[in-house]
Order: sequence, then C-alpha cells, then structure tokens
Amino acid sequence: MNCEPDRIEIIPSEAPSLTDDCGADTDWCEERRRMFIDVARAIKRLLEAQNTRKFALQINDRRPSSIDEDIAAALTGWRSARQAYMQHLRVHGC
Ligand SMILES: [Zn+2]
Repeated sequence: MNCEPDRIEIIPSEAPSLTDDCGADTDWCEERRRMFIDVARAIKRLLEAQNTRKFALQINDRRPSSIDEDIAAALTGWRSARQAYMQHLRVHGC
C-alpha cells in the first residue's frame, strides 16, 4: 500500500486551530464549518502519525509497520474528509 501522502507540506504552527469558532466569522453554513473542522482534525492526525514515524527513524526503531498502518489510516481519513468537504462545496455552493 502506498502510504505517501500527496506531498502535504504543512508547518504545524500554521495548521488550522480546532476550536468551535472555526469559520464563525464567515458566512459558512453549519455543515461546512463542521466539515472544515473534520478536515483540520484529519490533517492533525496525519501530522502526528508522520511525526511518530520520523521520531522512530531518528531513534533507529525499525518496527515501523504499525506506524505505517497509522499513517495509512490517517491518510485515508484525511482524503475522505477532504472529499466530503469538497463535495459539500460543489453541491451546496456555500
Ligand atoms: Zn454549505
């Protein structure tokens, strides 16, 4: 299984915050705000999984199979959340 993301380059400090206020200062509908938070959470999970693998490599831990599974699951979650968000934008037009 290909576990490499589509070359996501995100600096953690620039990742979206995960407060209930996400999008509150916009005219986004409630569902869009919820989906945006889902995408942000999925990105956070992916970053955490990638950081775990990076740390494991730094300490020469050569048991990355569970880490790779975590990354694959996080990547799947991110793609699903992103797809749902984009689909909502296309259909709802908000
Ligand atoms: Zn909407």
